[in-house]
Amino acid sequence: MELALLFILLPIAAASGWWLAKRNTVSSDASTHGGCEFSADYFKGLNLLLNEQPDKAIDVFVKMLQVDNDTVETHLALGNLFRSRGEGDRAIRIHQNLIARPTLSKEQRALALFELSQDYLRAGLLGRAEALFLELLKQGAYRAESLEKLLDIYQQEKAWEKAIDTARRYELLAGKRMNLEIAHFYCELGDGFFASGEHKSAVKMARRALNVDRRCVRATLLQASVEKANGDCKAAIKSLRQVEKQAPRFLPEIVAPLLSCYQSLGKTTEAEHYLEYLSAKYGGITPLLGLADLLRQRGNEQEASERIVKSLSKRPSVRGLDHLIELHLANSEGTARENLLILKGLTRRLLEEKLPYRCGHCGFKVKALQWRCPTCKDWASIQPVQGVVGE
Ligand SMILES: [Zn+2]
Repeated sequence: MELALLFILLPIAAASGWWLAKRNTVSSDASTHGGCEFSADYFKGLNLLLNEQPDKAIDVFVKMLQVDNDTVETHLALGNLFRSRGEGDRAIRIHQNLIARPTLSKEQRALALFELSQDYLRAGLLGRAEALFLELLKQGAYRAESLEKLLDIYQQEKAWEKAIDTARRYELLAGKRMNLEIAHFYCELGDGFFASGEHKSAVKMARRALNVDRRCVRATLLQASVEKANGDCKAAIKSLRQVEKQAPRFLPEIVAPLLSCYQSLGKTTEAEHYLEYLSAKYGGITPLLGLADLLRQRGNEQEASERIVKSLSKRPSVRGLDHLIELHLANSEGTARENLLILKGLTRRLLEEKLPYRCGHCGFKVKALQWRCPTCKDWASIQPVQGVVGE
């Protein structure tokens, strides 16, 4: 048996024995030890504990601890302890046992209910947890905490409409702004509509998201995707260019769709101007590489190469170097080509080994942009990595 659990249970066991002895001072199966009386159950539990049978020991001690005002806190502490140790079944058993007692005060019952709902949540029994948190809300107990937990449940279940409703209630109650989260819930709904071809509904959701949070880049990108899918490249360009005002750190995300839209409209010169402007103002490598691609397509490889070299001299970038090597590979042969291929292999490996997106909150790195960090569950915290192997 784990030493830690032994240390935690022994005092509880001792307390149980003392408590029982105090209440049942005259008992047919009690024995006397140092002037204090202990029940036979206490020794039975202690024996089970020492014989590494914690399950049975817990049952004995919990049975010994009759629930009344003196022992409610002990039950709660024991239940919470098991939950924090990941032993959900035991925590649930203890909290259920507590709730079943008719002697609890209204406050004690609400607290036990709140703890039990957290046990269910931790055990992944989302339906049961939801029902109890809703019951607590109805009773007017632990309202802000219950709304917070319900919000967690609805996000896990991808029940976005319920999440929006709950976030709004939480805002009112806790006085905490939830704009960013609510905007993403609308975007989740919008993405779903877009995926099933319901473009009007998708745009409606993107607009709602922007009404809630005008800086929501995700909503703007969704709107642009729908516009592009509908063949309205002009509108898509207008939307994509909004990202600069919303959050320039996400500019790398607009370069590919922007180029595609400008090319569909045959307005590559306009695209060149805009990418040049972005590159000069924000200095990221993606707009510059987009510009280099346009120049190369126009047959102006020399200028493309010069632009990249100029940028590399100011700000080293593996992606820039990789692109430059590719440009030179097209016009080289013999040993020079072989050497360039070796270099290209190196830059490719460097780029493959590095993950280009990182969560600004917990540091988690990913290969592709995600709007919610899978580790810390923050929304919009994952961003393009800056630096030599990033932007
Ligand atoms: Zn994170």
